[in-house]
Amino acid sequence: MNRQVEIAQRLLEVEECIAVAARRAGRERKEIELIVVTKNFPVEDAQILYQLGARAFGENRDQEGALKSQLLPKDIAWHFQGQIQGRKIKSIAHWADYVHSLDSLDHARKFDGIPERRVRNFFIQVNLEPMRLDRGGVSAKDLEPLLEAISAETQISLIGLMTVAPTGVEPERAFAEMREIHDRTLRSFPTVAALSMGMSGDFEAAIAAGATHLRIGSSILGSRELPA
Ligand SMILES: *Cc1c(COP(=O)(O)O)cnc(C)c1O
Repeated sequence: MNRQVEIAQRLLEVEECIAVAARRAGRERKEIELIVVTKNFPVEDAQILYQLGARAFGENRDQEGALKSQLLPKDIAWHFQGQIQGRKIKSIAHWADYVHSLDSLDHARKFDGIPERRVRNFFIQVNLEPMRLDRGGVSAKDLEPLLEAISAETQISLIGLMTVAPTGVEPERAFAEMREIHDRTLRSFPTVAALSMGMSGDFEAAIAAGATHLRIGSSILGSRELPA
């Protein structure tokens, strides 16, 4: 099977699963954005996805995202979702439209200080595993103070929260917890309205819990990694 047909079929299958899960949750498909995670896959795959109509792509690494965004058409929204390194912020700010993994005031200030940046909208990453903060994200208890500090000290636009379901926990439980955190946050920060959660293995549970942005890679592109 050629790559185009393979990707088209997988994308269609994922779209069908999203539609079914949305209906089951009593939600409209159009409330939910599918971000196709193209990390580790070649630019040719991203071009195929573009031809199939995909317009929102997710990347974890600065260099890879910078390259792909240069080679692909301009009407794509690029989502950066990897761990942020301070020295990469300037570059990320110039190719990404969205950052899903903001988790510190220091990084928020750095993004804010870059003139003529492309990136406009930020999600704060929440880490549901307090013992694993090395993976990025702010703990639930530090979330509101961080939102307050960023709102007070920078101009950047905070539009939502993001999380990755911890391994070894039922995704339903993790996403229910995230939903509660989000509901609480909305009372003080009503513009932080989006909820980025749900990957290949758990996006249906995320839709049931109210996700607005799904980040899906391997269900659409397969598990084939680029040779190093
Ligand atoms: C890789 C990755 C995804 C996509 O994961 P799949 O299991 O391939 O769908 C989503 N979010 C983040 C933060 C990732 O690193």
